[in-house]
Amino acid sequence: MEKIASLAKRRGFVYPSSEIYGGLAGFWDFGPLGVELKNNVKKEWWRFFVSEREDMFGVESSIIMNSKVWEASGHLKGFADLLAECKKCKKRFRVDEIKSKKCPECGGALTEPRNFNTMFKTFVGAVEDNSSIAYLRPETAQGMFVNFKNIIDSFHPKMPFGLAQIGKAFRNEITPGNFIFRIREFEQMEIEYFIRPPKNEKEWREVFDYWLGQIRKWLEFLGFKKENIFEREVSEKDRAHYSQRTTDLDYNFPFGKEELCGLAYRTDFDLKAHGLDYYLETPFPSGSEAYKTPVAKIIPHVIEPTFGVERLILALLSDSYDEDEMNNEKRIVLRLNPKLAPVKAAVFPLLANKPELVKKAREVFEMTKKEIPQTAWDDIGNIGKRYRRQDEIGTPFCLTIDFQTLEDSTLTIRDRDSGQQERIAIVKMTEYIKERLR
Ligand code: ATP
Repeated sequence: MEKIASLAKRRGFVYPSSEIYGGLAGFWDFGPLGVELKNNVKKEWWRFFVSEREDMFGVESSIIMNSKVWEASGHLKGFADLLAECKKCKKRFRVDEIKSKKCPECGGALTEPRNFNTMFKTFVGAVEDNSSIAYLRPETAQGMFVNFKNIIDSFHPKMPFGLAQIGKAFRNEITPGNFIFRIREFEQMEIEYFIRPPKNEKEWREVFDYWLGQIRKWLEFLGFKKENIFEREVSEKDRAHYSQRTTDLDYNFPFGKEELCGLAYRTDFDLKAHGLDYYLETPFPSGSEAYKTPVAKIIPHVIEPTFGVERLILALLSDSYDEDEMNNEKRIVLRLNPKLAPVKAAVFPLLANKPELVKKAREVFEMTKKEIPQTAWDDIGNIGKRYRRQDEIGTPFCLTIDFQTLEDSTLTIRDRDSGQQERIAIVKMTEYIKERLR
């Protein structure tokens, strides 16, 4: 884990937040490569779960919502951790994480467990009183439920259909840690998939299994090693207050198997809580007067696949991190799926002190960048060092402009994983790379 965190810091993926002031526990900043990696993950998620489907509607709701949302959803009451406080050192611990009745830090006696709400509180407007209390959302899900009716009115979707959202969520975690695994500000990618009230258990279980299959497919697409993913049925006592069935997908992190993402059957808990229902499609054309007359009223049930972006990033870094030997030299390599790699191609002049090589290489760089925006320029150190640097950040292709380029307009293209180099005509190069990124 230290190796991954150190690589992430050194190469500009992840930095501690407000580091020059000593940082802030549970908060992290993403550097240039981290942002690209995150954006690639989010873009691919949106493509897989939203754009390529007909039954999915994207939304982006606000982070701060009317407090009544959290009252209705049960978060004000239920979104709490059971904590015990040490009478001596005053530190608080999650009861489910400690093994004895003594403080794990100083051995002092612990208080009886008490509920501690993990939502961040703030005030909206100039007056700080009870009427202006607001919360930073602890999940993106509620932003979709409260827009349920708006989507129905604007799009008249047929059942089943889903809402999807990517956005920040905040939780005042008691024990943030394990790098970016458990943090206090993070991003979620969630889907609320609405189905007709199931007539029997089989009906919702089928949809649940379908979504479990979609999650497996997506994790496979990202390139995770199969042996590092574990599916776990969450027992009733560990399930969230709204869930009738939850399957978590755990990843084999360097610190142990922990939740990566999950799938929950939220029943009709949320829509009911917000007093929302759905008018069954009428036989009349949408927009007509008759259309507005409901044939029957139903409250849909919900299946929810949910993902944390930072956890996926940590798992991806961990899964793709490798140390091997190439040309009798040790190297670190991130074997990231090329689609996710923050830099797709790096362009080098063989020698940085030969103006004719640099000029040609700049031409190639500018041309490539137009076609493949995530292209980088590197002319620092010798060619071996540049390869090592690009391997460390997972760049799938390195393009070198040498003296032969000046004669026959070809360059060498080097593959990250095998180290193999091929000569290829400059005019064919971007197509060659794009083909491998498809
Ligand atoms: P945990 O048991 O690890 O606290 P959870 O069961 O509370 O997680 P959910 O409420 O199901 O998590 O949240 C959905 C997803 O959001 C999780 O699968 C995870 O990827 C992500 N997530 C939740 N809490 C955090 C956090 N503190 N830091 C980073 N990601 C998080």
